[in-house]
Amino acid sequence: MGLSTEILANYIGGAWRRSDSSEVLEVTNPATAEVLARVAASTARDVDEAARCAGEAAPEWRRVPVTERVQYLFKLKQLIEKNSEDLARTVTNECGKTYAESLGELRRGVENIEVACGAPSLMQGYNNEDVARGIDEHLFRQPVGVVAAITPFNFPGMIPLWFLPYAVALGNCFILKPSEKVPMTSTRLFELLAQTGLPKGVVQLVHGAKTAVDAVLDDPAIQAVSFVGSTLVARYVYQRATANGKRAQCQGGAKNAIVVMPDADLDSTIQVAAESAFGCAGQRCLAASVAIPVGAAARPFTEAITEAAATRRVGYGLEDGVQMGPVITPEIKTRIESLIDAACRDSARVLVDGRGKRVNGYEQGNFLHPTVLENARPDGEGIGAEILRTEVFGPVLSLLPARDLDEAIALANRASYGNMACLFTSSGAAAREFRYRVAAGNIGINVGVAAPMAFYPFSGWKDSFFGDLHGQGRHAVEFYTEAKVVVERWPGRG
Ligand code: NAD
Repeated sequence: MGLSTEILANYIGGAWRRSDSSEVLEVTNPATAEVLARVAASTARDVDEAARCAGEAAPEWRRVPVTERVQYLFKLKQLIEKNSEDLARTVTNECGKTYAESLGELRRGVENIEVACGAPSLMQGYNNEDVARGIDEHLFRQPVGVVAAITPFNFPGMIPLWFLPYAVALGNCFILKPSEKVPMTSTRLFELLAQTGLPKGVVQLVHGAKTAVDAVLDDPAIQAVSFVGSTLVARYVYQRATANGKRAQCQGGAKNAIVVMPDADLDSTIQVAAESAFGCAGQRCLAASVAIPVGAAARPFTEAITEAAATRRVGYGLEDGVQMGPVITPEIKTRIESLIDAACRDSARVLVDGRGKRVNGYEQGNFLHPTVLENARPDGEGIGAEILRTEVFGPVLSLLPARDLDEAIALANRASYGNMACLFTSSGAAAREFRYRVAAGNIGINVGVAAPMAFYPFSGWKDSFFGDLHGQGRHAVEFYTEAKVVVERWPGRG
Protein backbone atom coordinates (compact mmCIF):
# COMPACT_ATOMS: atom_id res chain seq x y z
CA MET A 1 0.00 0.00 0.00
CA GLY A 2 0.98 3.60 -0.52
CA LEU A 3 2.27 4.68 2.88
CA SER A 4 3.67 1.37 4.03
CA THR A 5 6.22 1.19 1.23
CA GLU A 6 9.55 2.89 1.47
CA ILE A 7 8.98 4.79 -1.75
CA LEU A 8 5.43 6.05 -2.17
CA ALA A 9 3.69 4.16 -4.93
CA ASN A 10 1.52 5.43 -7.75
CA TYR A 11 -2.09 4.28 -7.95
CA ILE A 12 -2.87 3.21 -11.49
CA GLY A 13 -5.65 1.01 -12.83
CA GLY A 14 -6.90 0.20 -9.33
CA ALA A 15 -3.51 -1.01 -8.02
CA TRP A 16 -0.51 0.46 -6.19
CA ARG A 17 2.43 0.39 -8.55
CA ARG A 18 6.05 1.38 -8.22
CA SER A 19 7.51 3.75 -10.77
CA ASP A 20 10.70 2.41 -12.32
CA SER A 21 12.16 5.91 -12.35
CA SER A 22 15.75 6.13 -11.14
CA GLU A 23 15.07 9.58 -9.70
CA VAL A 24 13.81 9.50 -6.12
CA LEU A 25 12.95 12.61 -4.11
CA GLU A 26 12.80 13.04 -0.34
CA VAL A 27 9.71 14.29 1.46
CA THR A 28 10.80 16.34 4.44
CA ASN A 29 8.95 17.70 7.45
CA PRO A 30 9.60 21.45 7.17
CA ALA A 31 9.42 21.90 10.97
CA THR A 32 11.82 19.13 11.95
CA ALA A 33 13.82 18.41 8.77
CA GLU A 34 12.98 14.73 9.31
CA VAL A 35 12.70 12.71 6.09
CA LEU A 36 9.14 11.37 6.14
CA ALA A 37 9.02 9.40 2.92
CA ARG A 38 10.55 9.09 -0.50
CA VAL A 39 8.76 9.51 -3.76
CA ALA A 40 9.67 8.60 -7.32
CA ALA A 41 9.86 11.26 -9.99
CA SER A 42 7.55 9.31 -12.26
CA THR A 43 8.40 8.99 -15.93
CA ALA A 44 6.44 9.49 -19.13
CA ARG A 45 5.91 5.71 -19.13
CA ASP A 46 4.10 5.94 -15.77
CA VAL A 47 1.90 8.76 -17.05
CA ASP A 48 1.17 6.90 -20.29
CA GLU A 49 0.15 3.84 -18.29
CA ALA A 50 -2.14 5.96 -16.09
CA ALA A 51 -3.68 7.56 -19.17
CA ARG A 52 -4.11 4.16 -20.82
CA CYS A 53 -5.91 2.71 -17.77
CA ALA A 54 -8.08 5.82 -17.48
CA GLY A 55 -8.87 5.65 -21.19
CA GLU A 56 -9.87 1.99 -20.92
CA ALA A 57 -12.15 2.70 -17.97
CA ALA A 58 -13.74 5.82 -19.46
CA PRO A 59 -16.37 4.30 -21.81
CA GLU A 60 -17.81 2.11 -19.05
CA TRP A 61 -17.60 4.82 -16.34
CA ARG A 62 -19.50 7.20 -18.58
CA ARG A 63 -22.35 4.68 -18.79
CA VAL A 64 -22.66 4.39 -15.01
CA PRO A 65 -25.70 6.54 -14.17
CA VAL A 66 -24.74 9.81 -12.52
CA THR A 67 -26.89 8.90 -9.52
CA GLU A 68 -24.65 5.85 -9.00
CA ARG A 69 -21.42 7.71 -9.69
CA VAL A 70 -22.04 10.13 -6.85
CA GLN A 71 -22.56 7.28 -4.38
CA TYR A 72 -18.77 6.75 -4.42
CA LEU A 73 -18.34 10.41 -3.49
CA PHE A 74 -20.76 10.13 -0.57
CA LYS A 75 -18.54 7.27 0.66
CA LEU A 76 -15.40 9.32 0.12
CA LYS A 77 -16.84 12.19 2.14
CA GLN A 78 -17.58 9.85 5.03
CA LEU A 79 -14.13 8.26 4.86
CA ILE A 80 -12.35 11.62 4.83
CA GLU A 81 -14.42 12.83 7.76
CA LYS A 82 -13.75 9.64 9.69
CA ASN A 83 -10.01 9.93 9.02
CA SER A 84 -9.72 13.70 9.22
CA GLU A 85 -7.45 13.77 12.28
CA ASP A 86 -4.97 11.39 10.71
CA LEU A 87 -5.15 13.24 7.38
CA ALA A 88 -4.68 16.60 9.12
CA ARG A 89 -1.58 15.32 10.92
CA THR A 90 -0.21 14.17 7.57
CA VAL A 91 -0.88 17.61 6.05
CA THR A 92 0.85 19.36 8.96
CA ASN A 93 3.82 17.03 8.91
CA GLU A 94 4.61 17.34 5.23
CA CYS A 95 3.41 20.89 4.59
CA GLY A 96 4.10 22.69 7.88
CA LYS A 97 0.81 24.47 8.56
CA THR A 98 -0.86 24.19 11.95
CA TYR A 99 -3.12 21.28 12.78
CA ALA A 100 -6.16 23.61 12.91
CA GLU A 101 -5.26 24.96 9.47
CA SER A 102 -4.92 21.40 8.17
CA LEU A 103 -8.32 20.40 9.53
CA GLY A 104 -9.75 23.58 7.99
CA GLU A 105 -8.40 22.84 4.54
CA LEU A 106 -9.76 19.31 4.64
CA ARG A 107 -13.19 20.70 5.51
CA ARG A 108 -12.97 23.04 2.51
CA GLY A 109 -11.98 20.07 0.37
CA VAL A 110 -14.96 18.04 1.55
CA GLU A 111 -17.25 20.93 0.58
CA ASN A 112 -16.28 20.24 -3.02
CA ILE A 113 -17.30 16.62 -2.66
CA GLU A 114 -20.64 17.78 -1.27
CA VAL A 115 -21.20 20.14 -4.20
CA ALA A 116 -20.12 17.49 -6.72
CA CYS A 117 -22.72 15.12 -5.24
CA GLY A 118 -25.26 17.46 -6.86
CA ALA A 119 -24.04 16.34 -10.29
CA PRO A 120 -27.40 14.75 -11.20
CA SER A 121 -28.98 18.18 -11.37
CA LEU A 122 -25.80 20.20 -12.07
CA MET A 123 -25.18 18.40 -15.35
CA GLN A 124 -28.72 18.58 -16.70
CA GLY A 125 -29.02 19.91 -20.21
CA TYR A 126 -31.89 21.94 -21.60
CA ASN A 127 -34.25 21.86 -24.57
CA ASN A 128 -36.84 23.68 -26.64
CA GLU A 129 -39.69 22.36 -28.68
CA ASP A 130 -40.44 23.92 -32.06
CA VAL A 131 -37.24 25.95 -32.52
CA ALA A 132 -38.59 25.86 -36.05
CA ARG A 133 -41.92 24.31 -36.92
CA GLY A 134 -41.70 20.61 -36.00
CA ILE A 135 -38.05 20.83 -34.95
CA ASP A 136 -36.91 20.33 -31.35
CA GLU A 137 -33.49 21.11 -29.94
CA HIS A 138 -31.77 19.51 -26.94
CA LEU A 139 -28.47 20.12 -25.18
CA PHE A 140 -26.83 17.13 -23.51
CA ARG A 141 -23.72 17.20 -21.35
CA GLN A 142 -21.23 14.40 -21.89
CA PRO A 143 -17.95 13.79 -20.06
CA VAL A 144 -14.75 15.07 -21.67
CA GLY A 145 -13.06 11.68 -21.15
CA VAL A 146 -9.68 11.50 -19.40
CA VAL A 147 -8.71 14.56 -17.38
CA ALA A 148 -5.76 15.44 -15.15
CA ALA A 149 -4.95 17.85 -12.32
CA ILE A 150 -1.50 19.11 -11.33
CA THR A 151 -1.46 20.58 -7.83
CA PRO A 152 0.82 22.69 -5.58
CA PHE A 153 2.36 22.06 -2.16
CA ASN A 154 0.42 24.54 -0.06
CA PHE A 155 -2.98 22.80 0.17
CA PRO A 156 -2.25 19.08 -0.21
CA GLY A 157 -5.70 18.07 1.06
CA MET A 158 -7.98 20.69 -0.43
CA ILE A 159 -6.67 21.41 -3.91
CA PRO A 160 -6.85 17.86 -5.31
CA LEU A 161 -10.47 17.94 -4.12
CA TRP A 162 -11.11 21.12 -6.12
CA PHE A 163 -11.10 18.87 -9.19
CA LEU A 164 -11.35 15.14 -8.52
CA PRO A 165 -14.97 15.06 -7.23
CA TYR A 166 -16.38 17.07 -10.13
CA ALA A 167 -14.38 15.25 -12.78
CA VAL A 168 -15.50 11.85 -11.50
CA ALA A 169 -19.13 12.79 -10.78
CA LEU A 170 -19.45 14.19 -14.29
CA GLY A 171 -18.32 10.89 -15.77
CA ASN A 172 -14.61 11.42 -16.46
CA CYS A 173 -11.63 9.32 -15.49
CA PHE A 174 -9.06 11.30 -13.55
CA ILE A 175 -5.29 11.49 -13.03
CA LEU A 176 -3.76 13.46 -10.14
CA LYS A 177 -0.14 14.63 -10.22
CA PRO A 178 0.33 16.19 -6.77
CA SER A 179 3.26 18.31 -5.66
CA GLU A 180 6.35 16.19 -5.09
CA LYS A 181 6.90 18.17 -1.87
CA VAL A 182 3.67 16.87 -0.28
CA PRO A 183 2.82 13.47 -1.81
CA MET A 184 1.77 11.78 1.43
CA THR A 185 -1.62 13.44 1.81
CA SER A 186 -2.70 12.48 -1.69
CA THR A 187 -1.44 8.96 -1.06
CA ARG A 188 -3.69 8.83 2.02
CA LEU A 189 -6.58 10.26 -0.02
CA PHE A 190 -6.13 7.56 -2.65
CA GLU A 191 -6.04 4.87 0.03
CA LEU A 192 -9.48 6.14 1.02
CA LEU A 193 -10.60 6.36 -2.61
CA ALA A 194 -9.59 2.73 -3.02
CA GLN A 195 -11.91 1.85 -0.13
CA THR A 196 -14.92 3.43 -1.86
CA GLY A 197 -14.96 0.60 -4.40
CA LEU A 198 -14.62 2.93 -7.40
CA PRO A 199 -14.10 0.81 -10.50
CA LYS A 200 -10.45 0.44 -11.46
CA GLY A 201 -9.12 3.11 -13.80
CA VAL A 202 -11.54 5.85 -12.68
CA VAL A 203 -8.90 7.60 -10.54
CA GLN A 204 -5.12 7.42 -10.76
CA LEU A 205 -2.32 8.99 -8.75
CA VAL A 206 1.00 9.66 -10.42
CA HIS A 207 3.70 11.19 -8.25
CA GLY A 208 6.56 13.21 -9.62
CA ALA A 209 7.74 16.57 -10.86
CA LYS A 210 8.42 18.27 -14.20
CA THR A 211 8.92 15.08 -16.24
CA ALA A 212 5.52 13.79 -15.14
CA VAL A 213 3.88 17.17 -15.78
CA ASP A 214 5.32 17.36 -19.28
CA ALA A 215 4.11 13.84 -19.99
CA VAL A 216 0.60 14.82 -18.87
CA LEU A 217 0.70 17.88 -21.13
CA ASP A 218 1.83 15.84 -24.14
CA ASP A 219 -0.21 12.68 -23.67
CA PRO A 220 -2.83 12.54 -26.44
CA ALA A 221 -5.14 10.39 -24.28
CA ILE A 222 -5.61 13.22 -21.76
CA GLN A 223 -8.20 15.74 -22.92
CA ALA A 224 -8.25 18.36 -20.14
CA VAL A 225 -5.76 19.67 -17.58
CA SER A 226 -6.33 21.65 -14.40
CA PHE A 227 -3.30 23.28 -12.83
CA VAL A 228 -2.73 25.19 -9.61
CA GLY A 229 0.70 26.61 -8.78
CA SER A 230 3.03 29.50 -9.48
CA THR A 231 2.35 31.85 -12.38
CA LEU A 232 5.51 30.92 -14.26
CA VAL A 233 4.51 27.27 -14.39
CA ALA A 234 0.79 28.05 -14.84
CA ARG A 235 1.53 30.00 -18.02
CA TYR A 236 3.81 27.24 -19.28
CA VAL A 237 1.25 24.51 -18.54
CA TYR A 238 -1.52 26.52 -20.20
CA GLN A 239 0.55 27.15 -23.33
CA ARG A 240 1.78 23.58 -23.74
CA ALA A 241 -1.55 21.95 -22.91
CA THR A 242 -3.55 24.16 -25.26
CA ALA A 243 -0.92 23.86 -28.01
CA ASN A 244 -1.57 20.13 -27.76
CA GLY A 245 -5.29 20.74 -28.18
CA LYS A 246 -6.29 20.18 -24.57
CA ARG A 247 -8.78 22.11 -22.54
CA ALA A 248 -6.82 23.85 -19.75
CA GLN A 249 -7.52 25.99 -16.72
CA CYS A 250 -4.44 27.13 -14.83
CA GLN A 251 -4.52 29.01 -11.54
CA GLY A 252 -1.35 30.93 -10.81
CA GLY A 253 0.28 33.05 -8.13
CA ALA A 254 -0.79 36.22 -6.40
CA LYS A 255 0.18 39.57 -4.91
CA ASN A 256 -2.78 40.47 -2.76
CA ALA A 257 -3.47 43.90 -1.29
CA ILE A 258 -5.69 44.73 1.65
CA VAL A 259 -6.91 48.31 2.01
CA VAL A 260 -7.82 49.68 5.44
CA MET A 261 -10.04 52.76 5.62
CA PRO A 262 -10.00 55.08 8.64
CA ASP A 263 -13.59 54.05 9.45
CA ALA A 264 -12.75 50.33 9.69
CA ASP A 265 -13.24 48.56 13.01
CA LEU A 266 -9.60 48.33 14.09
CA ASP A 267 -9.72 45.32 16.40
CA SER A 268 -11.47 42.97 14.03
CA THR A 269 -9.48 44.32 11.06
CA ILE A 270 -6.17 43.57 12.75
CA GLN A 271 -7.21 40.09 13.71
CA VAL A 272 -8.35 39.32 10.18
CA ALA A 273 -5.43 41.10 8.47
CA ALA A 274 -2.85 39.28 10.63
CA GLU A 275 -4.50 35.96 9.84
CA SER A 276 -4.44 36.82 6.14
CA ALA A 277 -0.76 37.84 6.11
CA PHE A 278 0.69 35.26 8.50
CA GLY A 279 -1.80 32.35 8.54
CA CYS A 280 -0.36 29.28 6.78
CA ALA A 281 2.98 31.15 7.10
CA GLY A 282 1.85 33.40 4.25
CA GLN A 283 1.88 30.40 1.91
CA ARG A 284 -1.62 30.96 0.61
CA CYS A 285 -2.53 32.32 -2.77
CA LEU A 286 -5.02 34.47 -0.82
CA ALA A 287 -2.45 35.79 1.67
CA ALA A 288 -2.28 39.55 2.18
CA SER A 289 1.13 40.65 0.98
CA VAL A 290 0.64 44.42 0.89
CA ALA A 291 -1.44 46.42 3.39
CA ILE A 292 -2.59 49.86 2.27
CA PRO A 293 -3.85 51.90 5.21
CA VAL A 294 -5.67 55.00 4.04
CA GLY A 295 -5.17 58.45 5.60
CA ALA A 296 -5.65 58.46 9.38
CA ALA A 297 -5.74 54.63 9.44
CA ALA A 298 -1.98 54.49 8.84
CA ARG A 299 -0.77 55.07 12.37
CA PRO A 300 -3.15 52.89 14.40
CA PHE A 301 -3.03 50.13 11.79
CA THR A 302 0.78 50.13 11.72
CA GLU A 303 1.03 49.99 15.50
CA ALA A 304 -1.52 47.21 15.86
CA ILE A 305 -0.29 45.02 12.99
CA THR A 306 3.31 45.19 14.22
CA GLU A 307 2.11 44.10 17.65
CA ALA A 308 0.13 41.22 16.10
CA ALA A 309 3.13 40.15 14.00
CA ALA A 310 5.59 40.32 16.88
CA THR A 311 3.41 38.24 19.19
CA ARG A 312 2.32 35.48 16.81
CA ARG A 313 3.43 32.12 18.17
CA VAL A 314 5.58 30.27 15.66
CA GLY A 315 6.43 26.58 15.92
CA TYR A 316 5.67 23.00 14.97
CA GLY A 317 2.07 22.89 13.82
CA LEU A 318 1.17 19.82 15.86
CA GLU A 319 1.95 21.59 19.15
CA ASP A 320 -0.80 23.27 21.13
CA GLY A 321 -1.01 27.04 20.87
CA VAL A 322 1.16 27.32 17.76
CA GLN A 323 -0.29 29.91 15.38
CA MET A 324 2.14 29.67 12.48
CA GLY A 325 4.36 26.92 11.10
CA PRO A 326 7.50 26.97 8.93
CA VAL A 327 7.85 27.69 5.23
CA ILE A 328 8.15 24.68 2.98
CA THR A 329 11.89 24.35 2.23
CA PRO A 330 15.22 25.88 3.33
CA GLU A 331 15.63 27.26 -0.23
CA ILE A 332 12.29 29.05 -0.04
CA LYS A 333 13.23 30.49 3.35
CA THR A 334 16.51 31.80 1.91
CA ARG A 335 14.72 33.31 -1.07
CA ILE A 336 12.27 35.19 1.17
CA GLU A 337 15.09 36.44 3.41
CA SER A 338 16.96 37.64 0.33
CA LEU A 339 13.92 39.60 -0.81
CA ILE A 340 13.73 41.28 2.60
CA ASP A 341 17.50 41.98 2.57
CA ALA A 342 17.29 43.55 -0.88
CA ALA A 343 14.29 45.70 0.06
CA CYS A 344 16.18 46.96 3.11
CA ARG A 345 19.28 47.76 1.06
CA ASP A 346 16.99 49.87 -1.08
CA SER A 347 14.56 51.99 0.96
CA ALA A 348 12.57 49.63 3.17
CA ARG A 349 12.62 49.65 6.94
CA VAL A 350 11.87 46.54 8.97
CA LEU A 351 9.28 47.13 11.69
CA VAL A 352 9.13 43.50 12.76
CA ASP A 353 12.02 41.30 11.69
CA GLY A 354 11.29 37.60 11.30
CA ARG A 355 14.76 36.73 10.02
CA GLY A 356 17.29 34.77 12.02
CA LYS A 357 14.93 33.63 14.77
CA ARG A 358 14.98 30.13 16.20
CA VAL A 359 12.23 27.92 17.47
CA ASN A 360 13.44 26.02 20.51
CA GLY A 361 13.59 22.32 19.90
CA TYR A 362 13.18 22.79 16.15
CA GLU A 363 16.46 24.37 15.17
CA GLN A 364 16.52 22.48 11.85
CA GLY A 365 13.09 23.77 10.78
CA ASN A 366 12.52 26.34 8.02
CA PHE A 367 11.13 28.93 10.38
CA LEU A 368 10.76 32.53 9.38
CA HIS A 369 8.79 34.65 11.84
CA PRO A 370 6.22 37.26 10.79
CA THR A 371 7.87 40.28 9.20
CA VAL A 372 6.46 43.78 8.63
CA LEU A 373 8.15 46.28 6.32
CA GLU A 374 7.50 49.90 5.52
CA ASN A 375 8.95 52.38 3.04
CA ALA A 376 9.47 49.90 0.21
CA ARG A 377 9.23 51.96 -2.99
CA PRO A 378 6.33 51.09 -5.24
CA ASP A 379 8.02 52.93 -8.13
CA GLY A 380 11.42 51.36 -7.55
CA GLU A 381 13.01 49.61 -10.51
CA GLY A 382 15.73 47.43 -9.04
CA ILE A 383 15.84 44.25 -7.02
CA GLY A 384 15.07 46.30 -3.87
CA ALA A 385 11.56 46.99 -5.13
CA GLU A 386 10.99 43.33 -5.98
CA ILE A 387 9.28 42.73 -2.64
CA LEU A 388 6.32 44.85 -3.82
CA ARG A 389 6.19 43.29 -7.28
CA THR A 390 6.77 39.62 -6.85
CA GLU A 391 4.83 36.99 -4.97
CA VAL A 392 6.73 36.50 -1.69
CA PHE A 393 4.73 33.48 -0.50
CA GLY A 394 5.90 33.81 3.09
CA PRO A 395 4.88 35.66 6.27
CA VAL A 396 5.92 39.12 5.07
CA LEU A 397 3.62 42.14 4.98
CA SER A 398 4.66 45.41 3.33
CA LEU A 399 2.88 48.60 4.39
CA LEU A 400 2.11 51.12 1.69
CA PRO A 401 0.01 54.02 3.01
CA ALA A 402 -2.30 55.91 0.63
CA ARG A 403 -3.94 59.34 0.84
CA ASP A 404 -7.41 58.21 -0.17
CA LEU A 405 -9.41 55.31 -1.60
CA ASP A 406 -8.60 56.31 -5.20
CA GLU A 407 -4.88 56.08 -4.55
CA ALA A 408 -5.34 52.82 -2.63
CA ILE A 409 -7.23 51.23 -5.53
CA ALA A 410 -4.58 52.44 -7.97
CA LEU A 411 -1.84 50.87 -5.80
CA ALA A 412 -3.77 47.60 -5.50
CA ASN A 413 -4.33 47.52 -9.26
CA ARG A 414 -0.62 47.96 -10.08
CA ALA A 415 0.03 44.28 -9.44
CA SER A 416 0.38 42.08 -12.48
CA TYR A 417 -1.58 39.47 -10.50
CA GLY A 418 -5.30 39.62 -9.77
CA ASN A 419 -6.14 36.91 -7.29
CA MET A 420 -7.58 38.83 -4.33
CA ALA A 421 -8.11 42.33 -2.94
CA CYS A 422 -9.78 43.21 0.35
CA LEU A 423 -11.24 46.36 1.85
CA PHE A 424 -11.85 47.06 5.52
CA THR A 425 -14.43 49.77 6.09
CA SER A 426 -17.79 50.58 7.62
CA SER A 427 -18.85 52.54 4.52
CA GLY A 428 -21.11 50.83 2.02
CA ALA A 429 -20.22 53.44 -0.59
CA ALA A 430 -16.48 52.77 -0.22
CA ALA A 431 -17.13 49.02 -0.38
CA ARG A 432 -19.18 49.42 -3.54
CA GLU A 433 -16.55 51.61 -5.17
CA PHE A 434 -13.79 49.16 -4.28
CA ARG A 435 -15.70 46.12 -5.46
CA TYR A 436 -16.51 47.87 -8.72
CA ARG A 437 -13.03 49.13 -9.60
CA VAL A 438 -10.50 46.72 -8.17
CA ALA A 439 -8.98 44.33 -10.73
CA ALA A 440 -9.00 40.99 -8.94
CA GLY A 441 -11.20 37.92 -9.05
CA ASN A 442 -11.78 37.31 -5.34
CA ILE A 443 -12.82 40.33 -3.31
CA GLY A 444 -13.11 40.57 0.47
CA ILE A 445 -15.12 43.24 2.26
CA ASN A 446 -14.08 43.09 5.93
CA VAL A 447 -12.80 39.61 5.07
CA GLY A 448 -9.06 38.91 4.81
CA VAL A 449 -8.95 35.56 3.00
CA ALA A 450 -11.69 35.83 0.38
CA ALA A 451 -11.79 32.13 -0.44
CA PRO A 452 -14.94 31.30 -2.40
CA MET A 453 -17.12 28.47 -1.19
CA ALA A 454 -17.04 25.33 -3.29
CA PHE A 455 -20.12 26.35 -5.28
CA TYR A 456 -18.35 29.49 -6.59
CA PRO A 457 -15.37 29.46 -8.94
CA PHE A 458 -11.92 30.40 -7.69
CA SER A 459 -11.83 33.45 -9.85
CA GLY A 460 -8.31 34.78 -10.42
CA TRP A 461 -7.68 37.57 -12.93
CA LYS A 462 -4.64 38.81 -14.89
CA ASP A 463 -1.51 36.71 -14.20
CA SER A 464 -3.36 34.69 -11.57
CA PHE A 465 -5.41 32.68 -14.06
CA PHE A 466 -4.94 31.28 -17.56
CA GLY A 467 -7.96 29.72 -19.18
CA ASP A 468 -11.54 30.32 -20.16
CA LEU A 469 -13.36 27.94 -17.85
CA HIS A 470 -13.12 27.18 -14.15
CA GLY A 471 -12.90 23.72 -12.68
CA GLN A 472 -14.83 24.22 -9.44
CA GLY A 473 -18.42 24.38 -8.29
CA ARG A 474 -21.15 24.51 -10.88
CA HIS A 475 -18.61 26.00 -13.31
CA ALA A 476 -16.88 22.63 -13.27
CA VAL A 477 -19.74 21.34 -15.36
CA GLU A 478 -18.56 23.51 -18.25
CA PHE A 479 -14.95 22.42 -17.83
CA TYR A 480 -15.49 18.72 -17.34
CA THR A 481 -18.21 18.16 -19.92
CA GLU A 482 -18.71 18.66 -23.62
CA ALA A 483 -21.99 20.15 -24.75
CA LYS A 484 -23.80 18.23 -27.46
CA VAL A 485 -26.72 19.93 -29.18
CA VAL A 486 -29.24 17.78 -31.01
CA VAL A 487 -31.59 19.29 -33.57
CA GLU A 488 -34.41 16.83 -34.13
CA ARG A 489 -37.15 16.51 -36.73
CA TRP A 490 -39.57 13.64 -37.22
CA PRO A 491 -40.98 13.87 -40.73
CA GLY A 492 -44.75 13.83 -40.79
CA ARG A 493 -44.99 15.26 -37.24
CA GLY A 494 -45.42 18.85 -36.04
P1 NAD B 1 4.81 25.28 -8.38
O1 NAD B 1 4.39 26.06 -9.57
O2 NAD B 1 6.26 25.21 -8.05
O3 NAD B 1 4.34 23.75 -8.52
C1 NAD B 1 3.01 23.42 -8.85
C2 NAD B 1 2.99 22.10 -9.60
O4 NAD B 1 3.72 22.24 -10.82
C3 NAD B 1 3.64 20.96 -8.83
O5 NAD B 1 2.87 19.80 -9.01
C4 NAD B 1 5.01 20.82 -9.47
O6 NAD B 1 5.49 19.49 -9.46
C5 NAD B 1 4.80 21.30 -10.88
N1 NAD B 1 5.95 22.00 -11.44
C6 NAD B 1 6.83 22.80 -10.77
N2 NAD B 1 7.74 23.31 -11.63
C7 NAD B 1 7.43 22.84 -12.86
C8 NAD B 1 8.00 23.02 -14.16
N3 NAD B 1 9.06 23.79 -14.35
N4 NAD B 1 7.41 22.39 -15.20
C9 NAD B 1 6.32 21.62 -15.02
N5 NAD B 1 5.75 21.42 -13.80
C10 NAD B 1 6.29 22.02 -12.74
O7 NAD B 1 3.95 25.83 -7.14
P2 NAD B 1 4.11 25.49 -5.60
O8 NAD B 1 5.36 26.12 -5.10
O9 NAD B 1 3.91 24.04 -5.39
O10 NAD B 1 2.82 26.23 -5.01
C11 NAD B 1 2.82 27.57 -4.66
C12 NAD B 1 2.25 28.42 -5.77
O11 NAD B 1 0.92 28.01 -6.06
C13 NAD B 1 2.14 29.89 -5.40
O12 NAD B 1 2.54 30.66 -6.48
C14 NAD B 1 0.65 30.07 -5.10
O13 NAD B 1 0.18 31.39 -5.26
C15 NAD B 1 0.07 29.15 -6.09
N6 NAD B 1 -1.29 28.79 -5.73
C16 NAD B 1 -2.30 29.33 -6.45
C17 NAD B 1 -3.61 29.05 -6.11
C18 NAD B 1 -4.74 29.64 -6.88
O14 NAD B 1 -5.86 29.20 -6.71
N7 NAD B 1 -4.52 30.61 -7.75
C19 NAD B 1 -3.88 28.20 -5.04
C20 NAD B 1 -2.81 27.65 -4.33
C21 NAD B 1 -1.51 27.95 -4.70
